[in-house]
Amino acid sequence: MFFRRAREDRAFREAQRAGHELLLQLQATQPWRDLTEPAAPAAEESAMSDLPPPELRVPSRPEVAGLMMRWEQPLVIDGEVRTCPECGVYRDWIVFCMRDDSVWLRCRAGHQVQEPQLDAAWYNRNSGPVDHWHPTLEEGLRHLGH
Ligand SMILES: [Zn+2]
Repeated sequence: MFFRRAREDRAFREAQRAGHELLLQLQATQPWRDLTEPAAPAAEESAMSDLPPPELRVPSRPEVAGLMMRWEQPLVIDGEVRTCPECGVYRDWIVFCMRDDSVWLRCRAGHQVQEPQLDAAWYNRNSGPVDHWHPTLEEGLRHLGH
């Protein structure tokens, strides 16, 4: 009777230990439920709705694809007048300063060429303050008379 009871107890304890180890393994291998549930987007949305509508906002620099200005006189760089490689005109440019600080010239006929000798610093020295915000390139060109 004594031995049998002891054997039963040992079997029970071993089963209990095996179950406990199995539980530990599950906890170790399964990702925590809290981390896998998607975060509620409510906070972000309410923050967005606090902003004024887009047409009332001055765009921050990262939202702007580029800056543009009209350059009617001949553009002289290092003593050379820039001409359009496509049609040869040398005045009445639209000058773009893009987000990557590259500067592009666009002639009246719509040919565009990058001007590697000019950069954002040059553009900022030669352009006035940004006074208009155009949602599209076409509207910006129209505003500048192109
Ligand atoms: Zn051209």
